[in-house]
Amino acid sequence: MALTYQENVPLAPLTTFGVGGDARLFAEAVNESDIEQAFIENRDKAIFVLGGGSNVLISDRGFDGLVLKIATKGLSFDSADDATTFVTAEAGEDWDEFVAECVGRNLAGVECLSGIPGLVGGTPIQNVGAYGQEVSETIVSVRVLDRATGEISEVSNADCGFEYRRSVFNGSLKDRFVVLTVSFKLKQGGSPRIEYGDLKRTFGKRKPGLSEVRNAVREIRASKGMLVRQGGPDSRSAGSFFKNPVVGSDGLRRIARVLMVDEASVPRFDMGKGNYKVPAAWLIERAGFEKGYLRGRAGISTLHSLALTNRGGAEAEEIIALKEEIETAIGQRFQIDLVNEPNLIGFD
Ligand SMILES: Cc1cc2nc3c(=O)[nH]c(=O)nc-3n(C[C@H](O)[C@H](O)[C@H](O)COP(=O)(O)OP(=O)(O)OC[C@H]3O[C@@H](n4cnc5c(N)ncnc54)[C@H](O)[C@@H]3O)c2cc1C
Repeated sequence: MALTYQENVPLAPLTTFGVGGDARLFAEAVNESDIEQAFIENRDKAIFVLGGGSNVLISDRGFDGLVLKIATKGLSFDSADDATTFVTAEAGEDWDEFVAECVGRNLAGVECLSGIPGLVGGTPIQNVGAYGQEVSETIVSVRVLDRATGEISEVSNADCGFEYRRSVFNGSLKDRFVVLTVSFKLKQGGSPRIEYGDLKRTFGKRKPGLSEVRNAVREIRASKGMLVRQGGPDSRSAGSFFKNPVVGSDGLRRIARVLMVDEASVPRFDMGKGNYKVPAAWLIERAGFEKGYLRGRAGISTLHSLALTNRGGAEAEEIIALKEEIETAIGQRFQIDLVNEPNLIGFD
């Protein structure tokens, strides 16, 4: 069937931020041939591929081109042996429902990624991660469509270039591919991952099952406003707005000096090779921003200092003004350049 195009479609309701203008053209792809067709028919236009809209900030001007919403559905499970199951999901599958399905089948490997909003196709783009797990640990390969040539190919895990919130898809090969399907290798009856502090505290010495861990992760997320489905202004966000900066030991020393604290008290995660990831939320708070800080109709979440939120009717420019205020403060105070996690769409 021919793909249907609509004109001047509001994008704000299709994003978790709930801000931004219209798409000049909009189409929803329910199968792979829709996706192929969209690229063939719109060679003269800018095309933005939209998943669940949970990692984007759309400009108030909207997007002057075609927004192609991915809505392809399908899951397949293939048990290789008693211990291993390969799962392939279409890009348009809801990520959290996918996790629920895997946990329900007693498949370990994605349980800590419960409650992350968005679609399966969005997960390899920034190598989503949470509570001690990253999607790169279980992805076997990503099937992609080359936007320019129309060729379909398989990108192996090794070729995805996965790092902290990074892959070739948001790095060296940004905007080259559309993710069509993602294949995972999960462990049948495997133990849940309990490495993150909050999860260790929840379970103590007890060994929980996968669904208990899924529920605990969702509860922890809800307490931080990190579950979109809970509703309310604190969850009108794109999750963490800034990546946690990575600094060397000189960076740690500088932070400690500025704050006049012992270097050992600066929280960090050892990344190896003398590099440390420092929580951006901690730095933001130390730079004087409190949870709930407001700038117009944009604000820092009342539950999590790393989430910028739309407090109701905010324009994208107000979110950008808050982002810049925080970046300037962190830059001046700690000489650290924060990098934003969400994709800014339709800005110059
Ligand atoms: C409350 C909240 C909590 C969050 N918590 C976390 C977290 O714990 N960990 C984490 O890593 N992230 C988190 N996020 C960010 C976000 O949910 C993830 O990055 C998610 O994977 C984005 O998927 P999406 O389908 O919504 O992508 P979108 O927001 O629609 O798109 C994001 C980017 O990916 C591209 N893209 C999407 N789908 C495809 C595709 N099929 N092919 C090619 N490109 C595509 C888009 O073009 C865009 O550049 C959170 C967001 C919110 C709102």
